[in-house]
Amino acid sequence: MTDFSMQIDADGVAILSWDAQGKSMNVLTLESLRDLDALVAQALADDAVKGLVITSGKKDFAAGMDLNVIARMKEDAGDEPARGLFDGIMGMHHALRRIERAGMDPKTNRGGKPVACAVPGTALGIGLEIPLACHRIFAADNPRAKIGLPEIKVGIFPGAGGTTRLVRKMGAMAASPFLLEGKLSDPNAARAAGIIDEVVPPTELMDRAKAWVLASVGTDLSKPWDRKDYRMPGGAPYHPAGYMTYVGASAMVNAKTFGAFPAAKALLSAVYEGALVNFDNALKIEARWFVNVLMNPSSSAMIRSLFINMQALGKGANRPDAPDQKVRKLGVIGAGMMGAGIAYVAANAGIDVVLVDSTDEAAAKGKAHSEGLLQKGVSRRKVTEEKKSETLARITPTTDYAMLQGCDLIVEAVFEDPQVKAEVTRKVVAAVGPDAIFATNTSTLPISDLATASDTPDQFIGIHFFSPVDKMQLVEIIRGKQTGDRAVAKALDFAKQIGKTPIVVNDARFFYANRCIIPYLNEGVRMVAEGVSPSLIENAAKMAGMPLGPLQLIDETSIDLGVKIAKATMAAMGDAYRDEAVDRVLFPMADEGRLGRKAKAGFYAYDDKGERQGLWPDLAKRFPRAAQQPTLQEVQERLLFAQSLEAVRALEEGVLTDIREGDVGAILGWGFAPWSGGPFSWLDILGAPYAAERAEELAATHGDRFAPPQLLEEMAERGQSFYARFGSGTAKAA
Ligand code: NAD
Repeated sequence: MTDFSMQIDADGVAILSWDAQGKSMNVLTLESLRDLDALVAQALADDAVKGLVITSGKKDFAAGMDLNVIARMKEDAGDEPARGLFDGIMGMHHALRRIERAGMDPKTNRGGKPVACAVPGTALGIGLEIPLACHRIFAADNPRAKIGLPEIKVGIFPGAGGTTRLVRKMGAMAASPFLLEGKLSDPNAARAAGIIDEVVPPTELMDRAKAWVLASVGTDLSKPWDRKDYRMPGGAPYHPAGYMTYVGASAMVNAKTFGAFPAAKALLSAVYEGALVNFDNALKIEARWFVNVLMNPSSSAMIRSLFINMQALGKGANRPDAPDQKVRKLGVIGAGMMGAGIAYVAANAGIDVVLVDSTDEAAAKGKAHSEGLLQKGVSRRKVTEEKKSETLARITPTTDYAMLQGCDLIVEAVFEDPQVKAEVTRKVVAAVGPDAIFATNTSTLPISDLATASDTPDQFIGIHFFSPVDKMQLVEIIRGKQTGDRAVAKALDFAKQIGKTPIVVNDARFFYANRCIIPYLNEGVRMVAEGVSPSLIENAAKMAGMPLGPLQLIDETSIDLGVKIAKATMAAMGDAYRDEAVDRVLFPMADEGRLGRKAKAGFYAYDDKGERQGLWPDLAKRFPRAAQQPTLQEVQERLLFAQSLEAVRALEEGVLTDIREGDVGAILGWGFAPWSGGPFSWLDILGAPYAAERAEELAATHGDRFAPPQLLEEMAERGQSFYARFGSGTAKAA
């Protein structure tokens, strides 16, 4: 059984249909590409075949290459992996080039057979690279279909000719959002952009594609880039307009990525160098840069965390064995920033929500948040008026706890005060049925302590959302000491309903995400106190791949929140507290009202509108610049080790039980250098022996917080990697 089949109809059109066996969506494997190539060769050689239509037996065309295959390609490529990869990629190019040339005479470009692609729905990655090799792309008018090349999002780029073909078809400037940002479009937008050729009613798709093939028999179908008079749209690099594009693109990419993402750099190189040579040589250049990206450990780490493991977690990899716990009616207590966001994402997913606050105004304001977001969607034509009113109708704002009757899950998001939370818990428990699960969205308070306000602590759990709730993909599910499996299953099923990626962690100070992000922020502040140039700190962080420097992130989350957390930590830790150096910077700033962006004053200066203007000039006066500045690498390592060693400690202590959750949670929760695949992947890239040695050196220079955890030392001695030891997801640190 193969994924492609061919039928030749009465008019002599060969229909090659892609229908991956046992899968709801087509994804390309190396075997299926070989099958396609063999069928194309057969059709081209068959005199009875006048032309070809490549289509899908499913409602979509294809979701792309099977990323599990890409992740394994390096390992499977033999003793000389770069050569093996290059040969494999050139094999893909030959197959797609065979479609594109379709039997033409190499000299005259004549005599080829027309090849159309009929795309019924979504066409992503190689699922678009194959159509791009055809002579004409027809897409069904299906507004839900997504068309695009999202490879860059998992650390690679379109490497089956998609990069070279799109640039030659559209010009580098027009192609850049699709290649560099992985922008996806619906069929009409893709046609308007020039990616596909025709959008037709779904019922006419095959007829139109076939009619075009039959009408094109005997005509010159060579692609523009195979003709002598080809000029690249927008100009090649040495053309005045092209020059601007290439210089500009390079600057733009570096401004965004700070050079931290190998795939973006390699893509730019492939585009630029490819634009200087003919098409076949450009394909070779594309292949070499693609090999370069695949050989870089960043790509396999990104694919592993951002695709394979994220998908596994989304599907409930760590869900306890309990019957379906899908939420039917949700109660949200506290309609502030978080509660309002939680109500919105739930209602948007079709769940009825009772939104409780202490006053009618506050509850109504919480619902108005959803209205605002939906209205924005309407004005951008992403949401219909009907969907907006349906969603809003699902949210009932109230002050009456009795309305919670029938809710099977409660999420509490009132003030971060144990007494207020305890009182709310008791009121809720009295109002809902005995089976309801109670979740708190606390960011700092121990779940096991809060659970004492409930008579059923096994039904009490933490579901920690991140702000803004509608945008942040991660939810951290926290098991208290007495939390039962049904509560965990409920939280996981809820996360799935609302399309979030969950991680499940055990109850300990700051859970997982905040536990790791605080040392990052603190390390940045410590360096300010030491006289390290603040711009070095901020740029080093971004060049290491962090989305925001630590000082900017503190400004965003607010300096008074930092002070509040520091005071609470100090009270809880007593003599073991070690962050006085941080407090000496933060406390005076908070006292002076420099609270961050919300106060239009913090580590950065802001204008009246709250727009960031650059680092606060007086910072240098307050903390004079040290004569000797650390190297860029030293600053980057301090910032990345501060987070990663904390992640290892969380694993060692059993807060994390699965490194996949540690890596995915870090990228989705606080943007840990995505190019690295997360803190555990980063340590694996460094190698445990180097990581342990470097941590020791940092500890000797900067303090015990960098002392390598025992687990890391042990792994260094044994020459182990985290993924070799714990990668299956079931392993515990012990
Ligand atoms: P907020 O101040 O914006 O909202 C709290 C809401 O709770 C207010 O509308 C308030 O009127 C209501 N409330 C207070 N007491 C109440 C009571 N007894 N009954 C009903 N309603 C009551 O706060 P927030 O930022 O939404 O945070 C809420 C919770 O979420 C806190 O526990 C916080 O730690 C946690 N959290 C916040 C963030 C964040 O970034 N803000 C992130 C994750 C978790």
